[in-house]
Amino acid sequence: MSSQYKSVLPIALRAAQVKRIILHWTAGSHVASALDRRHYHFLTEWDGSPGGSKIVSGKYQISANDSTSDGDYAAHVRRLNTGSVGWAICGMAGARERPFHAGRFPIQSEQWFLTAKGIAELCLFYDIEVTSKTVLSHCEVPEELGVPQAGKWDISRVPFIQNLSWTALNDNFRGLVKTAMQDIMESKEPEETEETIVDPLYRPRVTLDPDTGLVVDIPAGVVPNVDFRSDLIRIYRKTI
Ligand SMILES: [Zn+2]
Repeated sequence: MSSQYKSVLPIALRAAQVKRIILHWTAGSHVASALDRRHYHFLTEWDGSPGGSKIVSGKYQISANDSTSDGDYAAHVRRLNTGSVGWAICGMAGARERPFHAGRFPIQSEQWFLTAKGIAELCLFYDIEVTSKTVLSHCEVPEELGVPQAGKWDISRVPFIQNLSWTALNDNFRGLVKTAMQDIMESKEPEETEETIVDPLYRPRVTLDPDTGLVVDIPAGVVPNVDFRSDLIRIYRKTI
């Protein structure tokens, strides 16, 4: 008996020249529109119910961005689309930066965590080391990669984590990606002896430590709580 990680991606990954992954929000609703799908390789939707997040793929293959000279690629970032995977979390239509207001479609913590898992799979497949220059939000592009982006502020704030600078927030996200990568690697090892009963409805409160990047204080009643690690454990132990 062994447990296996089940991919959260909607498609099998293929060879491509990936240099970095850039995270966005769509500034739309919780569902990807046809226009959204043209601009991003992957999108994380939410159907409005707890556990109702899913990753969908966009119009273009990742390899469409190996070269952008043909004009046929996912355009999600200014002057940096070559080698850049575009991943958008669906939501944030009508959001305002200052004072922060998330609008009618606030992105959800479960979309955030699921996106981290999906990006972890990309990092493993394309052998990308997780740094602020290789896994970053659109808002970090000017500072980290030196390419101005006309005031794009995705993703500098999320409604379910308060009082973090955008750097801390995105470091936090990179911490989730790294943890997911470790979990995926470990889940590929056979587990012979462990016997675990996991309640599928078990959703422990996430507590986030700014140092380790793994704990968030989510205001009660704002969003469902999803524990990233136990969620993964639940997913791959289903197969034992
Ligand atoms: Zn963006």
